[in-house]
Amino acid sequence: MRKKLVLVVVDGMTPAAFERAVESGRAPGLAFLAEHGDYRKATSVFPSLTPVCLTSIATGAGPGVHHIPSLVWWDRQERRIVEYGSSFAALRAAGLSQSLVDTIFNMNERHLSPDASTVYEALEDAGLVAGAANITCYRGRHRYLPTVPGLHRAVHGPRRFFFYGLFESDRTGAPFAVRSRRAGSVDAYASAVGRWLVTRDGFDFLAYYLSGYDFASHAAGPHGEAAERALEQADAAIRVLLDAAGGPDQFLERYAVILLSDHGQTPVEHAVRLEEKFADLQGQVVVAASNRAGQVYLLPGARTDPAELARRLDGFPAVDVTLRREGEEIVARRDGADGPVERLEHPDVVWRARSALANPNAGELLVSAAEGWELTDLGGRHHAGGGSHGSLVAGDSLVPVVTVGLKAELHRITDVAPAVLAHFGVAVPESMEALAGVG
Ligand SMILES: [Zn+2]
Repeated sequence: MRKKLVLVVVDGMTPAAFERAVESGRAPGLAFLAEHGDYRKATSVFPSLTPVCLTSIATGAGPGVHHIPSLVWWDRQERRIVEYGSSFAALRAAGLSQSLVDTIFNMNERHLSPDASTVYEALEDAGLVAGAANITCYRGRHRYLPTVPGLHRAVHGPRRFFFYGLFESDRTGAPFAVRSRRAGSVDAYASAVGRWLVTRDGFDFLAYYLSGYDFASHAAGPHGEAAERALEQADAAIRVLLDAAGGPDQFLERYAVILLSDHGQTPVEHAVRLEEKFADLQGQVVVAASNRAGQVYLLPGARTDPAELARRLDGFPAVDVTLRREGEEIVARRDGADGPVERLEHPDVVWRARSALANPNAGELLVSAAEGWELTDLGGRHHAGGGSHGSLVAGDSLVPVVTVGLKAELHRITDVAPAVLAHFGVAVPESMEALAGVG
C-alpha cells in the first residue's frame, strides 16, 4: 500500500534557519522529520516571490509555463497593474477591491495558465482526493462559493479546500483566518484545518501552507530571535498534524512527507524606488517592483528598447543584474556590461532566467536586486532593517527540502509536483518540468 502524502510549505524558511532550529532543539517537529528523512537544498524560481514560487510548487513548472510573473505585474490585455499583496499600502495604491479580487479569485481563475496542470487536478483526475490549506495556488476540479455574505463569485479548488476561511469544502470549526496576521491567526487556521483532516484521514494528498514565518522574517530579519520564535510557531503547527495522527511515529506510518520552503530571505538595509530611473519615460514604460525583484514593461509605441532600459541601471547600487531577451538569446547585464546568462554564478540561473523571460506576463526587462537592497513597492513600503527576497542571489533562492518515505530527489521547487504524482503512480502531465532522480 502506497502511503498518503503531506506537503508542508514553510514560507521563507532558509536552509540556515532550518538547520539552526533542528540543531538547537527548538523545533522538535522539524527535527523529527529531518531525522527520519533525507535533507538537501533545492533552488527556487525567479523572481523568488511567494505567488510565483507556490504556483511553481503546485504546477511543477516555472513561470514560463504557469504565467504568474511576480507579486506585482502589468496586465497587458487589461492595461492595469495586478498586485497580489506586497503590502497593504501597495494594495491600496493598486486599488484595494481590484487587488483583493486579483489575489483571491483571478490568480487561479484567470492568471494561472490553463495549459499548466496543478498537482490537485492531476491527482483528482486519477481518482485520488487532494487537499489544500491556505496555499495560494489551489486550482482544482470542484466549484466553491465564498463563505462571506455578499461575495458571489466561484473558484475551483480540490475536494478538500480551505482558504483562510473564505472558501471551505467542509465545516471544521476552524476560526476565521484573516482577523489578525500578526497574532498568528492565519497559521492557527491552517493547523485547525490540518488537525481536522488528519484526524479523519480525509485526503490522499494535502498541501499544508504556513506563512507566519516569512512575515516575521520580513519584519525582524532572517537571523534574529523574532524569526526563530516564529519558526517555533511553524514547528508547533507541524506538530499539530503529527499529534492528530496519534503521534509522530503513527503519522509516518500513514503519510510520506515533503517539507520545504518556497524561497529564502536575506537581510536588507537600504530601499530605493526603481521607478526613479525611468521617470522621464512616463506613458512609455511601466515599472512593477516589490521586495527584491522588479520588472519594466514597454508600452505600445515606446521610443526606447530593453537594451536602453538596462543601460539606465548601470551604476545603480540597488541592482545586481538585469535580464532581457534578444532574439533567442538571454542577455544578462551587470557592472555596465552585457554578457551571457551562463556567466552568472547564481544558483540554477540559466533555467530560472529562461523560464522567467518565457512568461508572456513578464516585463521586457527583469531586475534582480543587489545584496542588502530592496525595491520599494507601489505604496512606497519596504523592509529595510529586516529581511526580504525575490532576487537571483543564493540567500533568496536556496530552500531546505526534507523528504520522508519518498524515493525522489528534489533539486528544484518545481520537482515537488512531479514527485508527488510519481509517488502515487499517476502520469506526469506534459506541462510539468521533467524530474531528475525519481527512483
Ligand atoms: Zn515574503
